Amino acid sequence: MNDPIVGIDLGTTNSAIGVVDSGFPLLLADEEGKRIMPSAVWIGEDGSVEIGRKALRRRGADGARVITSVKRLMGRELDTREKQSLFGKSPEEISALILGELKRVAEWRLGQPIRKAVITVPAYFHDGQRQATKRAGELAGLEVVRIINEPTAAALCYGLDQLGERSRVAVYDLGGGTFDLSILEMQEGVFQVLATHGDTRLGGDDLDLAMATAMARRAGLDWQALPQEQRVRWQVEAERVKCALSSSERETFALPFYDGVNSFSADVTREQWQEWMQPWIAKTIACCHKALNDAQLLPQEINAVVLVGGSTRIPAVRAAVEQCFGRVADVSQHPDEAIALGATIQAGMLSGAMKQMVLLDVTPLSLGIETLGGLMNVLIPRNTTIPCKAGETFTNAVAGQKAMRIRVLQGEREMARDNWELGQVDVPFEPAAKGQARIGVQFRLDENGILEVLARDVSTGIDRILVIENSAVDVSDEKVGQMVSESVEHAFEDMAERVWTEAKLKAEELLPAVEGALSIGSEWLSEEELQTIEAARADVRHALEGKEAHRLKQAVQELDRATEALAAKIVEYAMEQATGGLGS
Ligand code: AMP
Repeated sequence: MNDPIVGIDLGTTNSAIGVVDSGFPLLLADEEGKRIMPSAVWIGEDGSVEIGRKALRRRGADGARVITSVKRLMGRELDTREKQSLFGKSPEEISALILGELKRVAEWRLGQPIRKAVITVPAYFHDGQRQATKRAGELAGLEVVRIINEPTAAALCYGLDQLGERSRVAVYDLGGGTFDLSILEMQEGVFQVLATHGDTRLGGDDLDLAMATAMARRAGLDWQALPQEQRVRWQVEAERVKCALSSSERETFALPFYDGVNSFSADVTREQWQEWMQPWIAKTIACCHKALNDAQLLPQEINAVVLVGGSTRIPAVRAAVEQCFGRVADVSQHPDEAIALGATIQAGMLSGAMKQMVLLDVTPLSLGIETLGGLMNVLIPRNTTIPCKAGETFTNAVAGQKAMRIRVLQGEREMARDNWELGQVDVPFEPAAKGQARIGVQFRLDENGILEVLARDVSTGIDRILVIENSAVDVSDEKVGQMVSESVEHAFEDMAERVWTEAKLKAEELLPAVEGALSIGSEWLSEEELQTIEAARADVRHALEGKEAHRLKQAVQELDRATEALAAKIVEYAMEQATGGLGS
């Protein structure tokens, strides 16, 4: 890959990086096989740094020095408390550490340096926040070729750019710490944000906290008085139970020896849990209504609804959104990966690794060249998916021949003259005995329908190239239909003519060869054998006059068989001649 552009989702809770490889957008996994990296940074007292999952693992023992959700601080004036929480670093610097780690993973996976990136930001980010994100990228050694809106990336991932002009998409993004609802409209091939609403302090973390505090209360504990390490344990278990309840009806919240002595366990049903969540879900739905209102649209004027963010896995969330918009939401993509994949697709479009629309085209008609006797020799049959490549080696029919004319043909007929000629090229070669020259002919049809014909004299390596623009693929349906129906109509005559031509070529080669063989070795044959050969020769000559393809074919086969013994004897004799002086 030459200078790839990566796509990065720099999220509040999690981040991910991807690249388009051979036309496919993919996210790159770290050494642990994880494609999603927590947006967390731990800064030790001695200044050492851990990023991602490693940083989160420090939560228990050194939670105060683990920085999360730094995205909330990007491009803002910080108060003293906030400044302290970053241990002397700026939000850009912390983000740069996260970006740097993603870059490292990508470089390790791809085995080459990464210099350019597309980074996503929430649709509501103002210019200062976008600039800060760009600076973070630069600090990490990346040229930020584009900042794109997260909902736009999500829509790209869902392929909604194909919906057409004026189509409208609602993107409901509920992650760990933030919620956004954006309404996009496709205008001149680009998504415009019509309205965006959200809550930067609403997400799955609130649910974890709500469950953790409720459970701690049941255990008779005062949440506020709990040490940080213990709170983390209650929250981690709460998150596990929350996620489990998205797919099962009941789950046990269990914390053995949470304080070293006491244990806690309680069952939670999905029904109960849904009741707890209701006010929280209602807040997000209120945002949807506000956004629709701002955009002056009715729910039925939205053409597609997509869900992104890990918390949209909650069935009650999905149901509420579908009810609000009165349509089934598209959940075909991975909710945690959609934004990063969309950013990757955008990066691929910018780098040229991914064409906006790749049509899987096929050749409407066969492509080939004319060979001896005026026959059509097909190299690429019709309906072959392009791009494609095919070739064959040809030889000279006449001794001393100095050049070969390659006529490039298109069509379904057996005889060259009934097909269309797209072009021709003469390939010179060293004069050689008959059948000694080797001319390789290769057809290469690229995705744009451009046919490149490469003809090479194999002995000298000299090439001739003929480029035929588009005509190999751009043929009107009408002409294709005509050619195909003609080929069907003339199928029998065409086939007969091919059989005739091939048999005639063979006969013209065989007759003089038999003549020569007889002059050498007729005395080795019995009278009967001689008579058989004579009769077969006469038959071939007759058939040649008669213009009957199948009869000629048969006669040629007959003559071939009749002279087999003679040919073998001649070879034997020649061998004896060659080795005679050396033998016993
Ligand atoms: P994101 O920021 O998009 O990565 O979303 C992360 C949030 O999604 C966290 O709060 C997770 O707890 C939450 N989440 C992930 N999977 C599920 C699930 N199966 N059910 C409920 N919430 C989930």
